Amino acid sequence: RAKSAGGNRFELADDEADARAITRHGLTTALPAALERGEFFIEYQPLVHLDDGTVHGAEALVRWCHPQHGVLGPDRFIPLAEHTGLIVPLGRWVLEESVRQANFWQERHTDGGPLRINVNLSPTQLHHPRLVAETVDVLERSGLEPGALCLEVTESALIGADEDLLKPLRQLAEMGVDIALDDFGTGYSNLANLRRLPVSVLKLDRSFTLGMQQHPADPVDLKIVEGIVSLAHSLDLAVTVEGVETGAQAEQLRKLGCDTAQGWYYARPGAPDRIHSLLLADAV
Ligand code: C2E
Ligand code: MG
Ligand code: MG
Ligand code: MG
Repeated sequence: RAKSAGGNRFELADDEADARAITRHGLTTALPAALERGEFFIEYQPLVHLDDGTVHGAEALVRWCHPQHGVLGPDRFIPLAEHTGLIVPLGRWVLEESVRQANFWQERHTDGGPLRINVNLSPTQLHHPRLVAETVDVLERSGLEPGALCLEVTESALIGADEDLLKPLRQLAEMGVDIALDDFGTGYSNLANLRRLPVSVLKLDRSFTLGMQQHPADPVDLKIVEGIVSLAHSLDLAVTVEGVETGAQAEQLRKLGCDTAQGWYYARPGAPDRIHSLLLADAV
């Protein structure tokens, strides 16, 4: 073991690893009560049309306001919730809350066209037998039309997916719910496989957007994005790009034919009021 090789550095590293494990354990056991006490909240990040800067919708991103640790991002607790199954009630809450919020925005912006709400789904939620029934129920109770909801599923969650796993997504898609392939380009999915999936949106991972930041843009990334966009459009899929941080990236991605974008250049994830005022202003 590294420890016996001597040096405090290694002991420190071990202590840190222990501390992380303890925190992980503590966070995991605190999750159910946190949900009951209402410690989770949702931030919304606008999705913008690349051609004219108007708001297309918003992605719901969950956070945990932990009484001791402060605000924790989803990377800190979603994997834990996935592991224990708490992701199912937590995900249901996120869906319910963000659909309610989207319906509220829509009722106040009837002339602004439909505003869409994007909600992330974990693999466990995807496997849950009541996914379709619960989604239908949430939509019916809120009054939001199915076409305004987009469920985001990561590419890796669908790798090697069989018909049993795809069936609920297919049912949702038939009702008009959009399914987006999140973090596209990070997995190893077979492009030809796309035809088989009931998806209507590709969300190009931030790593491609990063390649557009250089001057000139990374020529290989340019070619890849160009290829993905043309393939996506030929399959009738819309292309959203994540992680746009500069105007130059936005311009490059617009030129490459991407449809919508999301990123700090437009707005960081924030309170629902932000989206409300963006809608009133009509463009970011
Ligand atoms: P994601 O779905 O790919 O969400 C995009 C992430 O990129 C968000 O991180 C967002 O804050 C961040 N981001 C947006 N614009 C920029 C930018 O310009 N630059 C950079 N560097 N980052 C940007 P966040 O909020 O930390 O969420 C991380 C991941 O957690 C999400 O990735 C999603 O996979 C997961 N997640 C978030 N909310 C939920 C949820 O309600 N349910 C489930 N199952 N997963 C969720
Ligand atoms: Mg997402
Ligand atoms: Mg993403
Ligand atoms: Mg991502």
